[in-house]
Amino acid sequence: MSSLHSLPTLLAVTLMFAGCGNSNGQMHPGTSDPTKSTAQSDHNGNPYYSTTATEKLDVPQAEWKKILPEDLYHVAFEKGTERPFTGKFEKDPRTGTYRCAVCGNALFDAHTKFESGTGLPSYYQPLPNSLQDQMDLGHGMARTEVICKRCGAHLGHVFEDGPEPTGLRFCINAVSLDHSPGK
Ligand SMILES: [Zn+2]
Repeated sequence: MSSLHSLPTLLAVTLMFAGCGNSNGQMHPGTSDPTKSTAQSDHNGNPYYSTTATEKLDVPQAEWKKILPEDLYHVAFEKGTERPFTGKFEKDPRTGTYRCAVCGNALFDAHTKFESGTGLPSYYQPLPNSLQDQMDLGHGMARTEVICKRCGAHLGHVFEDGPEPTGLRFCINAVSLDHSPGK
């Protein structure tokens, strides 16, 4: 009777790396806060916001700080990350276009949005030429920053665990997005 049964106990460590990087692990859908201020459609005083212009902006950060709502500035230019499930697009239109809340640049077709369970808006494919291509794809789960090509604002991160056809998951802070209706 050998009792050399030394099978290691399976460590039931559930690695929850589904979130967007430094979220606080557990996600509580009940914690959404509808009173959170958002910047949507509040572009008075932001002369750079345009849904049609495509020229690259070169606005000093100090200028953005004067123009933008505090929460948007923090995410866009101090690389903040909002808490999951606090964003305005958690349950959201699947038609139209999602734009950069800083400059109005079209970023994602709403049809490429999907439910990632992270509490932040997630897309599998950006619109052409919408993001800065300093992204370093193809290196496992590296946390790769997503930046607006027009204004340079930090938007979120891209991960390689998204759905087909791209296999990518663009995890974007809701405060960084505006939505334009459309088909
Ligand atoms: Zn932008």
